[in-house]
Amino acid sequence: MTPLKINNFSHMKTIYFYLLTGLLALGVISCNSSNARNNDNNNNPQSSTTTNFEKVALPYETDALEPVISQQTVELHYGKHHQAYVDNLKKLVVGTKFEDADLETVVKESDGAIFNNAGQILNHNLYFTSFKKDGGGEPTGRLGEAITEQFGSFEKFKEEFNAEGGAVFGSGWVWLAKDDSGKLSIHQESGGGNPITRGLTPILGFDVWEHSYYLDYQNRRGDHLKEIWKIIDWETVGQRY
Ligand code: MN
Repeated sequence: MTPLKINNFSHMKTIYFYLLTGLLALGVISCNSSNARNNDNNNNPQSSTTTNFEKVALPYETDALEPVISQQTVELHYGKHHQAYVDNLKKLVVGTKFEDADLETVVKESDGAIFNNAGQILNHNLYFTSFKKDGGGEPTGRLGEAITEQFGSFEKFKEEFNAEGGAVFGSGWVWLAKDDSGKLSIHQESGGGNPITRGLTPILGFDVWEHSYYLDYQNRRGDHLKEIWKIIDWETVGQRY
């Protein structure tokens, strides 16, 4: 009987050992999975926190461009439309290779919804920094010389630019861009297009989406395009050439 008791006691110890080991293992697994969940929460937020996709600060008051562009249009266009592109992109890039990319890389390498929103952030950052209170006049310096040399005169350039902008079918942009040699060209882009996807540098872009002019000019896009030259900040635009 004694050996049996010893055997039983030994058996019980073995069972107890495995039970204890099992409980410890479960505890460890439980701790790990709880940590994993915490890590997931930290690594997969609802929206990217990168600062690469932000709106540029508006370099003037929202009423500074009146009467060419009304305060209401600036507040809606910059405050709501532009903000929506930023909010959309930050959600769309989560879990993609673009999550921490710089904005221009996203525009050059993406397509679909990511491209549309990234393109519009780049476009509107350039657009809203192309104006100033009491702007207008003619470009001077290297850009002014290049425009005169390549288009004949500033007036001829404006005519061609407005004709291209007026002819964009539906929502889009008209851009003045340059290549690496400094050659200027005018391009229509639909949707959120930007000439950087053609390997060019954007200099000046007019937004011809209806949201940019409809409150002030209704269907008269051509009138808006004629007026907008009165608020161009040629010093800032010229630095892009
Ligand atoms: Mn717009």
